[in-house]
Amino acid sequence: MKNLYLETARPQVSAPALSGAQTADVVIVGGGYTGLAAALKLAGQGARVVLLEAGEIGHGCSGRNGGQVNPGLKALPDDVEAHFGAARGKRMNQMGSDAPAEVFELVERYGIDCAPSRTGTIRAAIDDAGVAQVKALVAQCTARGWPVRFVDAAEMAQMTGTGIYRAGAFDARGGHLNPLGYARGLALAAQAAGASLHGQSRATSVARAGSDWKVSTAGGSVTAPEIVLCTNGYTDDLWPGFRQALVPVWTYIAATDPLPAALREKIMPSRAALYEAAWDVVYYRLDDAGRLLMGGRGPQRDARVEADYGHLTRYARKLWPELKDVSFPWSWHGQVAITDDHFPHLVAPETGVHLMFGYNGRGIAVSTASGRMVAEHILSGGAADVALPVDGALAPVPFHGFWKIGAEATMAWNRLRDTLRGR
Ligand SMILES: Cc1cc2nc3c(=O)[nH]c(=O)nc-3n(C[C@H](O)[C@H](O)[C@H](O)COP(=O)(O)OP(=O)(O)OC[C@H]3O[C@@H](n4cnc5c(N)ncnc54)[C@H](O)[C@@H]3O)c2cc1C
Repeated sequence: MKNLYLETARPQVSAPALSGAQTADVVIVGGGYTGLAAALKLAGQGARVVLLEAGEIGHGCSGRNGGQVNPGLKALPDDVEAHFGAARGKRMNQMGSDAPAEVFELVERYGIDCAPSRTGTIRAAIDDAGVAQVKALVAQCTARGWPVRFVDAAEMAQMTGTGIYRAGAFDARGGHLNPLGYARGLALAAQAAGASLHGQSRATSVARAGSDWKVSTAGGSVTAPEIVLCTNGYTDDLWPGFRQALVPVWTYIAATDPLPAALREKIMPSRAALYEAAWDVVYYRLDDAGRLLMGGRGPQRDARVEADYGHLTRYARKLWPELKDVSFPWSWHGQVAITDDHFPHLVAPETGVHLMFGYNGRGIAVSTASGRMVAEHILSGGAADVALPVDGALAPVPFHGFWKIGAEATMAWNRLRDTLRGR
């Protein structure tokens, strides 16, 4: 079991472990897109930034995800406006809509080596409920002037090379990239702007130090008036109640080596990234070298054996029987942060403390934009009216202690619903 991106991304960024006592304007905990985008923006505006990451840069979701640069939030645009109210909801929707372009512009501006592909994304329907979802998405995006179009079953077959789909919503705003390459490129850009990045530096405590905050690791400490905690699905007990404000759900990916030319023409000739409109979401794409990356649910624990990925490879072969003799030598998994309302949250529980989390599995674009927005919030002394609402307190997910049982049960139930509908 090995993460493909460790082989295909640009080399690791030099980020020595923190040592000794340091001071900064802002300490960031978490070296994924949220932390790195915040570091880039803050350092670019002249702030002294120290970022602490428990593993290597990109160790969490940002170095393991499906690489799908998805536009929008998880909820449909009308539901976002119903939840947040018309004005705030409109800004949240616009932020989600603009976020993929923000990613691709950063990639271009900083020359980030991450195989970017602006070939769009597809939400694919396998049943009546999915068709209704896809139609609603197309109608609501079209009403807002966004480039999302309805694709019928015949065109879906041409775009994907499989006849399973009843319809789809093709979204020209999205695309895909090498996620670890993107994280490492953001890190290099942040370092060039003056940020100090430290890998192998797990923050073990946060404590008051006069009017500042002191964040300690095994090897040192950083004291600063502002701290940003963006540990997302990898959140520990660093800040009281943070772990209980989200549910860390495992998601799994299995990948092939570059497919033979004939298969590359057959599978996903559109080169868009696809995710299914189903209860049990499957997502996949062909990367720049023609590898198929197939993602979806998995056991709610650290994967132990190849069989933990068997359902993904079986489904790939169901979609394209031509894959019957093709092996999937790569497999890995990671933990996404699910929130109770399925929206991302920016929480400022005390002066100078900022917690940013909860992308609900759609984080490449929105976490990049969110990191930038947290930075703008800090740079403006809290005056900037960023698109995200700033909450004053963490809300615990109800029955958090039972999340594992809940996630397993929800997945089993979702799987059953999809099976009953013919997947
Ligand atoms: C398998 C998988 C597939 C996915 N597919 C997609 C996709 O196709 N498209 C999409 O948009 N999104 C996808 N996502 C979600 C997306 O990757 C995340 O939303 C996004 O990367 C979140 O970035 P982040 O910086 O907030 O968190 P992360 O990248 O998870 O970073 C958090 C970091 O905090 C560090 N950390 C934790 N505790 C401490 C501590 N005490 N001290 C120091 N560091 C600490 C962790 O080591 C980790 O590196 C996927 C996620 C997974 C796991």
